[in-house]
Amino acid sequence: MGKREYYEVMGVSRDASPEEVKKSYRQLARKYHPDVTTEDPKVAEERFKEISEAYEVLADVNKRKLYDQYGHSGVDSQFSGGGFSWDDFSHYSDLNDIFGGNFSSGGSIFDFLFSGGGRQRRGGSQQGSSLRYDIEITLEDVLNGMEQEVSIPRSVACEDCNGTGGKDGNVTTCPQCNGNGQVQQVRSSTFGRFMSVTTCPQCHGSGRTYAEACPQCKGQGHVQRTSRIDLDIPAGVENGTRFRVPGAGDAGAHGGPPGDLFVVVHVRQHDVFSREGSNLWMERDVTFPQATLGAEVEVITLQDETVRLKVPAGTQPDEVLRLRGKGLPRLGSGSHGDMLIRVRLVVPKKVTQRQRECLEAFAEDEGKHKGFLRFLKH
Ligand SMILES: [Zn+2]
Ligand SMILES: [Zn+2]
Repeated sequence: MGKREYYEVMGVSRDASPEEVKKSYRQLARKYHPDVTTEDPKVAEERFKEISEAYEVLADVNKRKLYDQYGHSGVDSQFSGGGFSWDDFSHYSDLNDIFGGNFSSGGSIFDFLFSGGGRQRRGGSQQGSSLRYDIEITLEDVLNGMEQEVSIPRSVACEDCNGTGGKDGNVTTCPQCNGNGQVQQVRSSTFGRFMSVTTCPQCHGSGRTYAEACPQCKGQGHVQRTSRIDLDIPAGVENGTRFRVPGAGDAGAHGGPPGDLFVVVHVRQHDVFSREGSNLWMERDVTFPQATLGAEVEVITLQDETVRLKVPAGTQPDEVLRLRGKGLPRLGSGSHGDMLIRVRLVVPKKVTQRQRECLEAFAEDEGKHKGFLRFLKH
């Protein structure tokens, strides 16, 4: 499959102004950034990289000129590896503007992207795996927000050896790689000499070796533990929202940083209310006289308050009545959505003698105006 046009990726025209390009990036980044996306994480990560590459080029006057003139081949050589990688991205500050401080706590917001879920770092250290935790909450939790302590089984650095793997933390520099964690190998062949760099076989990339393995972790440097982690779910959260808890994933290898914990929120269906953004929908039975003459009925809100709802005279079946501010809180703001009540007109299955007489009298009256009386005669 050919590489998509940058303008197409960004959803802007070829003569888009720098402001339009930036605006489009802002919108797309909000949609696909792995920390906030509600799309499939794999797809989102690809898309986020694609739009970031397009932005890298289109936001730069010179690169954009090259691209306009020569297409992809005009800019690929601008990237360090002959193709775009995150190391080529120079607009972190724009992303920080978009996402604010929330996403930079606990280190770079790009740890996840750069680590690629465990990319090898210099000296053999490796970031730990990120973990996922699914939490189911109720609509009441969405209303009030919730704090909950959860148990996460994960690997942590061994306390006995400080994560080094050597008994009592005693380690020495690996003699084979001099602590680099990597060794160079030169091979000769008929085509010439090749140099390759591989992980050191003696220390497996840690750059350190020990005379005696730590008995607690058997030289692994990490042990399996259950960590108790406080989750703070804000009021107004949407179904499918992902939160990142930096550093709460598995321990890194060879002194690398731990991975992150991603918490995915699932909101359980409610028996009475259904949700539409910050609005809540419910149904309410209303009798024919109430709908006809108007009435005040009681409804119970999600806040568990009993409130009076005015049913205006002449209300029709399925008409929607509104209680302002009785819906869910909007995330990050003090305001609430509305409660929307769909009127369900109930028709009695049985009537008393008196009710029958009244209804017949009503029908007779109506019939005088409309000539429908004959349908009711029996
Ligand atoms: Zn080594
Ligand atoms: Zn240990």
